[in-house]
Amino acid sequence: MEYSAIVIQQYYGFKVSLPGMDPFKIASIVKDKITRRRGGTEELRYYRFRGGKWYGGIATGDVVGCNLRCKFCWSWRYSYYTNKGFFCRPEEAFNRMLNIAEKRGYRYVRLSGGEPTIAKDHLLDLLKLFSETKYTFILETNGLLLGRDMRYARDLANYHNIVVRISFKGTTPLEFEYLTGASREFYEYQFRALINLLEAGFKPGEEFYAAAMLSFSPKENVEKFLRKLASIHPVLAEDIDIEYVILYPHVVQLLRKNKLKPLIAYRPNGIPDFMI
Ligand code: SF4
Repeated sequence: MEYSAIVIQQYYGFKVSLPGMDPFKIASIVKDKITRRRGGTEELRYYRFRGGKWYGGIATGDVVGCNLRCKFCWSWRYSYYTNKGFFCRPEEAFNRMLNIAEKRGYRYVRLSGGEPTIAKDHLLDLLKLFSETKYTFILETNGLLLGRDMRYARDLANYHNIVVRISFKGTTPLEFEYLTGASREFYEYQFRALINLLEAGFKPGEEFYAAAMLSFSPKENVEKFLRKLASIHPVLAEDIDIEYVILYPHVVQLLRKNKLKPLIAYRPNGIPDFMI
């Protein structure tokens, strides 16, 4: 896949050079801007709380900020930025998600929007609060920080009601670099996240699984990718959650800006059941 460098995007909240950025450095810069300490507690920037049809019904807190700059990101108007939204203490986020889940009779809650693992202390506080409820907490993450730090995976394993969804961005290191702006060498950390979760005691296919954005991946790359997942654990290749781009107007805007054309994508009124 050929591409040329895209340099410095002003509206990303701060200056980054793409491709080839270091997502761990970005995570640290973003963390400084989207979190703050008050009375020893880590507060995090959210931009909304909502219910929705995903996972058969789930209460969601959408967070600001991410350590990648995916060219297809559905939440780029918030994940690319660090100064939007409003700070919430873990208790406030908990109450708002709990209210939505109770009112609508959901079984699941989650953080989404940006990358929730950047705010580790906030996330662990929230998990602790939900561990005393009947709700299953789905942690949606690109997995890079879990791949870098085995202790993070072990800390998550302290909570019985968590399911971790590692969302792969592309099926090869080159696709990853092209799609996310991060250097290809960091792709491996997404697999490392799966290994760390497995070693921390999470059950594959039940308590953690892989998702993958396949809108831009040729078949042969997907096959290679599945073989790699199977080499970690066979269940991971069987229980993969496939993602395709949904053509919301703001996503189409981003794709056009990036001159990126998905091989497969769906309109918002035609999302197949397997993606919901
Ligand atoms: S990792 Fe997720 S939130 Fe972050 S830029 Fe990519 S798609 Fe958006």
